[in-house]
Amino acid sequence: MSDGDDCLFCRLVAHEIPASVVAETETTLAFRDISPAAPTHVLVIPKEHYRDMAAIIADRPELMSDVMATAMEVVGLEGLQEEGYRLVANTGASGGQTVYHAHLHVLGGRGLGWPPG
Ligand code: 5GP
Ligand code: ZN
Repeated sequence: MSDGDDCLFCRLVAHEIPASVVAETETTLAFRDISPAAPTHVLVIPKEHYRDMAAIIADRPELMSDVMATAMEVVGLEGLQEEGYRLVANTGASGGQTVYHAHLHVLGGRGLGWPPG
């Protein structure tokens, strides 16, 4: 059994779960969060299963670059360059990570405030 067999986002990549896809490359997928926290709330993931960003950097740093490039594509598609946006990588229990397939949140479309709660 591979790491991703039981993983929600791997199932999404395999089209076993429907997703509202915003952008796709050979190595990454961007889709709308099912429970949006802002007018734009898109998740960008590597298609290959890694549990978090640290695991990507340790194994295939160029894939992290792909994830970031797709996030920038989403920023452009959503028209957020001028007003600004936030990229978030919740990591581990204290970081609030609930899905253990690495993902970057792209948030925008309203004033987001700082610091987060
Ligand atoms: P985390 O809390 O791990 O940083 O983020 C996981 C995100 O995945 C949450 O914002 C949650 O709303 C989203 N999510 C959970 N299940 C699904 C799903 O089946 N489809 C989509 N599109 N998003 C999901
Ligand atoms: Zn996965």
